[in-house]
This record gives sequence, structure tokens and C-alpha cells, in this order.
Amino acid sequence: MKDPGLLVVVSGPSGAGKGTICDALRKRFPNINYSISMTTRSPRPGEQDGINYFFSDNAHFEELLAQDAFLEHAKVYDHYYGTPKDYVFRMLNEGKHVMLEIDIQGAMQVKQKYPQGVFIYIVPPSMDVLARRLRDRKTDTEEVIAGRLSKASDELQWIEQYDYLIVNDDLDSSIDEAAAILTAEEMKTSRN
Ligand code: 5GP
Repeated sequence: MKDPGLLVVVSGPSGAGKGTICDALRKRFPNINYSISMTTRSPRPGEQDGINYFFSDNAHFEELLAQDAFLEHAKVYDHYYGTPKDYVFRMLNEGKHVMLEIDIQGAMQVKQKYPQGVFIYIVPPSMDVLARRLRDRKTDTEEVIAGRLSKASDELQWIEQYDYLIVNDDLDSSIDEAAAILTAEEMKTSRN
């Protein structure tokens, strides 16, 4: 039987650079599939339904929740986010890797249900750098930035639950580190 693919779970505070690192990994590992989450938040300019997220209203999300359709779900900044379960297991069973870019609450649920996943946490080199990156993005108000910084510092206590920590000081090195982790994990699965 074919080896199952790797379930790679990536978390980290907004502004840590996880989106950029995940995109680069997908280019290097064509076998990686991105799971598209469902969310009840509104689309941002440029975001498309079925590409960035499946956008849903609360009622539909809660109906799927009641049907146990999610591998994990969380409320982040007052909106639901969830990973549709069927897609993830279909891909893994076909031997394809699946990458989830999800928050800590969701990652801990996945860890309970699928401990053989690869859990990676990405942090900025310091809170000052994180604050600067968030301000430079010019997408959030000072109030939102303060909320993101406080969430980032509260979440530090969960880091040890992850298998790997990447300190994203230099983007290219962080991408190399993440790629080295995946290559090593691929070799481990093919040996088992
Ligand atoms: P954003 O609204 O900026 O796209 O995402 C906000 C946060 O929700 C990010 O930390 C992101 O990783 C997280 N997130 C996105 N999709 C999911 C999901 O399916 N489940 C969970 N638990 N978190 C998610």
C-alpha cells in the first residue's frame, strides 16, 4: 500500500511570515496540497471563494460543524475557521502531502486526532520586529495590531507542543529550514 502523505501543520502569529514560507514550500514540493479552509469572515479585496477560503455564513458553518465535517475548527477574532475533513484524508490516503496554515487552537485539535502530523511553529525574531512588520503591512489599525501582539505573546506558552520552531529572521534561510524539515520527514515515512 502507498505511504500516506504528510500532514504538515504550520502556525505562528500574523506577521511572522508563515504565508510566504508556505507558498515557497509549495513551489519546492509539488506533492504538497493546500487545504482550503472555510471561514465566516468576509472576503478581503482580491480574495476569491474556493481559492483563498470557502466563505460561508454562520448558519451553514454551524450546520457542517454539527455534521462533524471539520478536522478542526476555531473562532479567531470572532469568526469561525475550519478545515474540511474529507479533503485532507482523501489527499493523505492518495499519498499526497497536505499543508494546513491554521491557528494554535486548531493545531492542538489536529494534534489530538492525528499526532503523526508534522507541527511547525514560525516566530518572528522579536516582538519589536513583529510590531514593525505589522505596521509596515499597513492593513491593520493600531488597535488591531495591539490585539495581534497580545495574542502572539499569549500563544508563546504553546510553542513546546510543536515539533519544530523556525525563527524567521531571514526569509530565505527560514524557507531552507522548512524545506529541510519536510525532506527529513519524508525520508522518515518512507523508512517506516
Ligand atoms: P486570516 O483571517 O488573516 O486569513 O486568518 C486569521 C487566522 O486564522 C490565521 O492565524 C490563520 O492561520 C487562521 N486560520 C485560517 N484558516 C484556519 C482554519 O481552517 N482553522 C484554524 N483553526 N485557523 C485558521
